[in-house]
Amino acid sequence: MMTIADHLQAVREQIKQYEMQYARPLHSVSLLAVSKNQPIDKIQQAIAAGQWAFGENYLQEALTKIASLHHPKLEWHFIGAIQSNKTKKIAEHFHWAHTVSDKTIAKRLNDQRPAHLPPLNICIQVNISQEMTKSGINPDQLTSLVEYCETLPRLHCRGLMAIPALKQTLPEQRQELQKLRKLLENLTEKGFMLDTLSMGMSQDLEAAVAEGATIVRVGTAIFGPRN
Ligand SMILES: *Cc1c(COP(=O)(O)O)cnc(C)c1O
Repeated sequence: MMTIADHLQAVREQIKQYEMQYARPLHSVSLLAVSKNQPIDKIQQAIAAGQWAFGENYLQEALTKIASLHHPKLEWHFIGAIQSNKTKKIAEHFHWAHTVSDKTIAKRLNDQRPAHLPPLNICIQVNISQEMTKSGINPDQLTSLVEYCETLPRLHCRGLMAIPALKQTLPEQRQELQKLRKLLENLTEKGFMLDTLSMGMSQDLEAAVAEGATIVRVGTAIFGPRN
């Protein structure tokens, strides 16, 4: 039977293969293990196998996990929808928030980030597939939001994140993710210092590495099906 350590090893190996195949620098893609709806003992197994960065979608579940797992190297990323009533706990307990998509939420996270912690790393979530059901800011409003976030001293705006429409083939997946890469390039050309593209899940990992992802968010390929 494959253990979580085996799955992690396989995913890391795959990322390395894709980095070589698509001429990305070695280790330029970091692995965020998405542990939503997975029990704490599976996270502990991943930690034992050298995984320190975890992504969670549901605040209460995440807070329980964060409270019971202690290690200075652990890094918690909030990747779920952010409602106003969640910003305080996210600002207090997470290292990153990937799903910032409006000024109100950005301002609250900034104001609620505790003074003893470094600025909260954030990504702006962009609705690249223009679907009614997907959250994220529209591309035409992106520059204005990034400009605003740069004025908030308790946030460190790192880059962009997207959850694209599900596509089956590699070329179609790349076409979706390329939109996010081009938006980031456009912003860096304007002088914004952004270094992060958070994109790619278990199903579109190859496309994501090919299109410049710096953080891939992988759940089921590491932990198996969710409860
Ligand atoms: C659940 C989730 C993932 C991981 O998806 P898998 O298909 O399990 O790899 C990645 N990103 C976000 C935002 C998610 O909600």
